[in-house]
Amino acid sequence: MKRIMQRSFLILIVSLVFFGGICFLAFRLLTQNSMWVQQPYNGHMSSSNGLAQAGDIVDRDGAVLAHTDASKNRVYHEDLTTREALLHVVGDNSLNISTAVQSSYRNELTNYSFIWGLGMPNSLKSGKSLALTVDAGACRAAYEALGSHKGACVIYNYKTGEVLCSTSTLSYDPENPPEINEDNEEQYDGVYLDNTISSTFTPGSIFKIVTAAAAIKYIPDIYEQSFYCEGEYEIEGSKITCEEYHGYQNFDEAFSHSCNCAFAQIALQVGRENLTKTAEELGFNKELFMDDIALVKSHYDVSQAGDNELAWSGIGQYTDLSNPMHMAMLCGSIATGGTAKAPYLIQDHDSFLAQLGIEKKAADVQMLDANTSEQVKVLMRNAANYYYNARGLDLAGLNFCAKTGTAEIGEDKEPNAWFVGFTEDDAHPYAFAAVVAEGGYGISAAASVVSAAMYELVY
Ligand SMILES: [Zn+2]
Repeated sequence: MKRIMQRSFLILIVSLVFFGGICFLAFRLLTQNSMWVQQPYNGHMSSSNGLAQAGDIVDRDGAVLAHTDASKNRVYHEDLTTREALLHVVGDNSLNISTAVQSSYRNELTNYSFIWGLGMPNSLKSGKSLALTVDAGACRAAYEALGSHKGACVIYNYKTGEVLCSTSTLSYDPENPPEINEDNEEQYDGVYLDNTISSTFTPGSIFKIVTAAAAIKYIPDIYEQSFYCEGEYEIEGSKITCEEYHGYQNFDEAFSHSCNCAFAQIALQVGRENLTKTAEELGFNKELFMDDIALVKSHYDVSQAGDNELAWSGIGQYTDLSNPMHMAMLCGSIATGGTAKAPYLIQDHDSFLAQLGIEKKAADVQMLDANTSEQVKVLMRNAANYYYNARGLDLAGLNFCAKTGTAEIGEDKEPNAWFVGFTEDDAHPYAFAAVVAEGGYGISAAASVVSAAMYELVY
């Protein structure tokens, strides 16, 4: 009897282990089946480069960005500049740009089915195409304006989350990809990264948006204070400098002047805890998403900083780093009263797994309270109305709120130029961020990129 009990117990254990294994396999199959199929050693995929049976990729107006022709070749937009402008969004025949649609949404494009795998009968195939939210003309215009500089431009609808313009430089023609080897790897450094979502850059003065938000929240008399600038301000024996002499300014004027001396003092008044708290609420050090693709995190850390470094961090230097898509989201949150709409690139992308909550999916992000976002909006509106417009900057005739940035990145290099903000227009509610690496001054270099794309979107 004892032996029977022992054997029964053993069989029970074995059964439980077996059942647990089946459950684990089923879960992995359900959640990761597509990844297994896409492995390079899957002969069904690699024999045709994986794309011979892929559907079309079209822009928001139906312009064909990629399709497979009768000879099973993958071909891209007919215009070379448009192909280059959309390389990082669409991808090429390789899997090198891992965030591109052809890599990330290969299952949808190739009609991979959980039941049929890749072998779905032709009679059942629907010729799956993916419609993107981007406007190819706007991407092309931004790409051309970026010229030979490394950089990125993103514009998204802050009410719906649709990404309308996304381009990243440097780029290449997806129909004629370069052979990258030891001799030319420097020339193509970082070319497989989509700078809009996978890169960060020193923010410089656009970070004053964060410092200003923290000041509004934590310094009760910030609007009554006066800041004196004589071109430099000394902290711990080392100088914070401005390009010019700004004299006496209130908080609003200091923001519009982008006065480093004033914002260094403001950063110190806010203090490291509150500045860190505000930066993190605004999305720094935080995982954010576009569709189900994680953006590289923007960085803010003053845990080891002295007062001088804390001051520099408040004007977007020190170790601060910003991701362009995140900056557009941050501006979108200011436009809408505090909540950044989750950005997306794929129209109607709502997969079965996303609905079950198994697959990660972008969610709207609460960044600011309504009062603070309204105050920051006024600062950015005044900067645009009294300074940027006065210098001839025009965004397709729309009213806008903005901040420029010129980020120092080293002694021998031209600074990074930034332009971020949003339009105030019911028919065109667009948040934007453009960065031009070593592009010089924000207003001339980066703003012209946004302006070029905006004209394409509006007209
Ligand atoms: Zn100043």
